[in-house]
Amino acid sequence: MRAGPPLASPSPPPQLSRRLSLRAVIALWYGVIIALCLGAYSLAVGYGFGRHLELELDRRVHEDIELAARALVWNETGGLEWVGGFLGKQIDEEEGGGHWLEVWDAAGVRVLTEGTMPEPHLDALEVGSASGRAHTLTTPLGPLRVMTDSVQMGGHIYRIRAAVSAIGYRAQLRTMRWELVGLSLTVLVLGGLGGIAIARRALGPLVRLAARARLITAEQIHELLPEESSSAEVEDLRVAINETLTRLNRAFQQLGRFSGDASHELRTPLTALRAVGEMSLRRPQTAEEYREVIGSMLEEVDRLTRLSDDLLTLARAETGRAHLHVESIDLAGLARDVVSHLLVLAEERGQTVEVLAESPVTVEGDRAALRQALVNLLDNAIKYSPPDSRIVVEAGFAGADAFLRVVDEGPGIRAADQPRVFERFFRADRQRSREMGGTGLGLSIVRLAAETHGGTVSLESEPGAGCTFIVRLPRSTRPIGG
Ligand code: ADP
Repeated sequence: MRAGPPLASPSPPPQLSRRLSLRAVIALWYGVIIALCLGAYSLAVGYGFGRHLELELDRRVHEDIELAARALVWNETGGLEWVGGFLGKQIDEEEGGGHWLEVWDAAGVRVLTEGTMPEPHLDALEVGSASGRAHTLTTPLGPLRVMTDSVQMGGHIYRIRAAVSAIGYRAQLRTMRWELVGLSLTVLVLGGLGGIAIARRALGPLVRLAARARLITAEQIHELLPEESSSAEVEDLRVAINETLTRLNRAFQQLGRFSGDASHELRTPLTALRAVGEMSLRRPQTAEEYREVIGSMLEEVDRLTRLSDDLLTLARAETGRAHLHVESIDLAGLARDVVSHLLVLAEERGQTVEVLAESPVTVEGDRAALRQALVNLLDNAIKYSPPDSRIVVEAGFAGADAFLRVVDEGPGIRAADQPRVFERFFRADRQRSREMGGTGLGLSIVRLAAETHGGTVSLESEPGAGCTFIVRLPRSTRPIGG
């Protein structure tokens, strides 16, 4: 027993993509950009504030030296002391504690010290060192900003070294940094949440669009996505999806019609085959009668073969330019070649076929496809034109195009049928077409061949005054063999 096809299972829910959602990506980028901006801002503010505090300390240490120099006097014992108290004034508590002053003589001896903090035990001052520039020293009492400068007193050079504690400054800097970190984190979290909210709001219509599009199946392909208030981009996308759906719907309908027509066309010769076979089996026949039956069966087989050939040609042509074997082709040579092959059919009917062509008429194309198109046009002209009539095949240039023209003196085609003759399985005269073994696909093959070469096919006809079929193709810019 053959195993049947597996039972159709309900279609699985759409797989969650392993990729990050667009919302997450936008929120992430938003967060990264905010973090970078905050980082740059914090660095600039932190550095600026630190520099400002350092300059402030320098100003204070420099001021201490100036005050100390101004307040220095000799006492009765010939030593140095400060008049008006340390630094010549009361140290204001708000200025921050931690001032220290030393006075050194030219021989490198420390002659006076005073301060509002314990002795910081600085290194001995080297003779001659007095830059007037501040620097920071790390001591057991904490960081100190230290500056040394020289003063003149009664013809002697003294150096004053001032130190100011930087503990307060460091504490301010630390507080400031923590405040910056706190502020940055708050802005980052709020910004991130804002980014998620904005992304959710902006992409909401897109998500709804995708959900609606997912509901559209092959059976409901005629349904379109409804309009909703959203951004111009989402509206563009909606219109593009709707256009694709409309095209798909049209293609589905054409495909459905085509398969229906094709199976009908296949059934006709098969029914005829079966009927002829059954009839002949009903009673014994003479050898002559059997020959006739087999002959008519072979005719139907011929019809089936032509039909399947034409269906195959169409299927191949529909796969488009990818399968074309493009080369330089001289349409005049092609016309002469096709006419020489079909001339015998025309002669059987007493028709004349004339080729009018300036040579060469070069185009870039697939020789087999263009040959098939011309064979179909000339075959139709021979089939549908009366005996003893004249058929002309022309090749030439018209402007930017090369053309192939097949003119006959047949019955022509009614104006109402003219736009439809290139449709698949359309026959203006069904009876005549069938008698002549037509499949109804010849002209659709011609149109497809022209279109896949970037060209067109058109028909000019007056009933009773013959048909003119014109295939226009872009002319080649290359010389033959180039
Ligand atoms: P068919 O196999 O029936 O010839 P085609 O696609 O080649 O199919 O042509 C479509 C129909 O167009 C034909 O059935 C016929 O009625 C009409 N037709 C095509 N060529 C001619 C012609 N040269 N003169 C008159 N009628 C034509």
